[in-house]
Amino acid sequence: MAEFVQVLDPGHGGHDPGAVANGLREKDLTLKIALYTRDYIHELYEGVKVYLTREQDVFLSLSERAAFANRLGATHFCSIHINAGGGDGFESFIYSGSYANKSKTNALRNALHDVIIAETGFKDRGKKEANLAVLRETTMPAVLTENGFIDNRNNADFLKSDANLRKIALAHAHGLAKAHDWKTKANSVSKLSAGKLYRVQVGAFANRENAECLAEELKKKGYPAIIV
Ligand SMILES: [Zn+2]
Repeated sequence: MAEFVQVLDPGHGGHDPGAVANGLREKDLTLKIALYTRDYIHELYEGVKVYLTREQDVFLSLSERAAFANRLGATHFCSIHINAGGGDGFESFIYSGSYANKSKTNALRNALHDVIIAETGFKDRGKKEANLAVLRETTMPAVLTENGFIDNRNNADFLKSDANLRKIALAHAHGLAKAHDWKTKANSVSKLSAGKLYRVQVGAFANRENAECLAEELKKKGYPAIIV
């Protein structure tokens, strides 16, 4: 099966900081979220290769970002931004024109949008359409996410925490996986989730030997097992 090529596009960069407020710069936040999202996707899902339009603090024009994804023959494009202008919460965009794969593009966006709202707790500002260059010029289904308002005190406080940037990233990974029906890797049972480790108890024994026996079984199957 051909590999799924997911392009992530951290908004702004270099001499373009994007929105700036409350001691935060959009270009820094979008890069961190995109890098974390890439790592989560590679860690959790099979058959997906993630490429970033930029991995450093460099400037790229909007057309260069779209051309990068087109050249790669990407399956899907996701641009990551932080909002500004006095609002509160999360919104997502697809291209507003009329085009062949619009209903598919919208369905993919809806799945991603709903997971991000559910996992981040952002106020839902809605599923929107706009004539944005990165969405218009990409030839594959494309979405742009606006992850909170940098000039909203509550949103900015949320965005100041690295654990919350990871939470937003993991929500992007989960949402894209749901949208595209990616397969979970077999050995990804216990994973760091936004800085928290979830534990699953698989047995309770009166006899330590029996516990050690099960732990050995689990280790053979590739699960990290700890006896408490
Ligand atoms: Zn932006």
